[in-house]
Amino acid sequence: MKYKELCEVYGALEGTTKRLEKIELIAALLKKTKAEDMEKTVLLLQGSIYPAWDERKIGVASRLIIKAINTSSGISVKKIEEEWKKTGDLGKVAENLVKRKKQVTLFEKKLTVSDVFNNLRKLSELEGEGTVNRKLGLINQLLTSAEPLEARYIIRTVLEELRVGVGDGSIRDAIVCAFFPETKEMKDSDRERYALFVNAVQHAYDVANDFGAVARAALAHGLNGLEKISMAVGQPIKVMLAQKVRDVSEGFERVGKPAQLEYKYDGFRTQIHKHNNRITLFTRKLENVTNQFPEIIDYVGKHVKGNSFILDAETVGFDPKTGKYMPFQSISQRIRRKYSIGELSKKLPVEVNVFDMLFHDGKSFLKEAFSERRKLIEKIIDEKPRQIIVARSIITDDVQEAESFYRESLAKGNEGIMMKNLDAPYKPGSRVGFMVKLKPIMDTLDLVIVGAEWGEGKRASWLTSFTVACINDDNEFLEIGKVGTGIKELEGEGTTFMQLTELLKPLIISEKGREVTIKPRIVIEISYEEIQKSPTYSSGFALRFPRLVNLREERNPREISTIDEVEELYFGQRG
Ligand code: AMP
Repeated sequence: MKYKELCEVYGALEGTTKRLEKIELIAALLKKTKAEDMEKTVLLLQGSIYPAWDERKIGVASRLIIKAINTSSGISVKKIEEEWKKTGDLGKVAENLVKRKKQVTLFEKKLTVSDVFNNLRKLSELEGEGTVNRKLGLINQLLTSAEPLEARYIIRTVLEELRVGVGDGSIRDAIVCAFFPETKEMKDSDRERYALFVNAVQHAYDVANDFGAVARAALAHGLNGLEKISMAVGQPIKVMLAQKVRDVSEGFERVGKPAQLEYKYDGFRTQIHKHNNRITLFTRKLENVTNQFPEIIDYVGKHVKGNSFILDAETVGFDPKTGKYMPFQSISQRIRRKYSIGELSKKLPVEVNVFDMLFHDGKSFLKEAFSERRKLIEKIIDEKPRQIIVARSIITDDVQEAESFYRESLAKGNEGIMMKNLDAPYKPGSRVGFMVKLKPIMDTLDLVIVGAEWGEGKRASWLTSFTVACINDDNEFLEIGKVGTGIKELEGEGTTFMQLTELLKPLIISEKGREVTIKPRIVIEISYEEIQKSPTYSSGFALRFPRLVNLREERNPREISTIDEVEELYFGQRG
């Protein structure tokens, strides 16, 4: 397929905010995409060259793009920066430049989707000496063969900022529309049957984490193909998420009676894969953290039976002297650490608490009841406290017993408890309510930073006043307020302005005066006194007295508080 055809669809997607129109545009494109181009096209549609489970990134900063535009056009860096400030979009800057050049050169070679995709892959794989120049070369090569519109989207894709407003939900529905034309009628007349198709695509995606593979399977083998998509041990799968409840009674209402109650450990989610004698660890953001935790590899290798498996667990830090659990914040540095790992693991040791199991020795357990999965965990794990254990649990239908278990868990330094439906399957990637969480502090939201302001006076080198957003079903970020309190000036007191500035600076998309727009990547936990309706922000809500509680580095921006949760909390507070 010609890259230009894809760019025309990008253009049309950018030109509409209507979800149905977007779905139709994508479906029409998928229908005419050949099998061999399917995965590349679907990935590029999402502005990416790697599936969601793959943590590799293109990793090119705005600076390098400016340099590329500068070398390929001869236009001064200063002029390019001025144009960039005006539009806030380097894609548009490149587009205009190519337009101007078009009068002199003719486009001999038409770019294909494959050309662009392969070049971007090469770009992302470059390592070592001379990398910058070779990257420049690859970007220039694309820019010189690109037509204006193509230049716009090439640059935006390189920067991982496609901005055409395509969320996972739209891609999913477009796959249904393109490969199951029979659903066209059902959409209005038989919602239930229609939902079967949507759920089949969604499930395949939650398992494979790759819409390219899902589209290819749907094209080749229809519903059967979707059903057959299975987990690949060694490749991370999205984790099942929990809903919040206010007390144990509400918990029982959601998950049924009797239920399994477990300690809610305050660590980080760890997905443990064993495959071909190799053990791999992933966080809930699907980041590979195998190298950071050699002792976990050792514990799992020694104390878990089976040739291949996928375990779901929480890794918690503990004080090596007292043996007491420590809050996540104190071991979070282990996730980032790339050197002297042995030393740090003595200072900040961890214990693995296994609470679920997705796969064991060739068999998927996603559809098995939770009680069966738990039985198997107990069978295959040889518990070694302060190394690897099965999550502490009870099964009960009694509110008082549940409450005393909750108090016991808090007294042990845990965050609260989880309550789980004994008969439920494992649903990757969803917050279906098969497990719920109960914690004492309810009124915080996990929000992503989408903007900030440069400070003034002695704070001039720091970003301050952070604009935060929640998320909707279509993975769009909706602003809900600005946060400036709770952030410290001095190191050692908590999350500092300096720390946030360092994290956010490489994510700046554009600047206007003191205001900057930021790629939504960094999640923070925010407390507030009240949620109010407000026309100021795109969510329609604003927070009164928002305050930063924690930096949540382990949290994926797609798993932050949803607009539905905000709405529910808003109505909840009015009684
Ligand atoms: P939250 O991070 O507040 O959404 O709470 C859900 C998280 O609690 C999960 O993603 C796990 O990382 C963590 N967790 C701790 N203990 C458990 C447990 N026993 N079962 C399930 N999740 C747990």
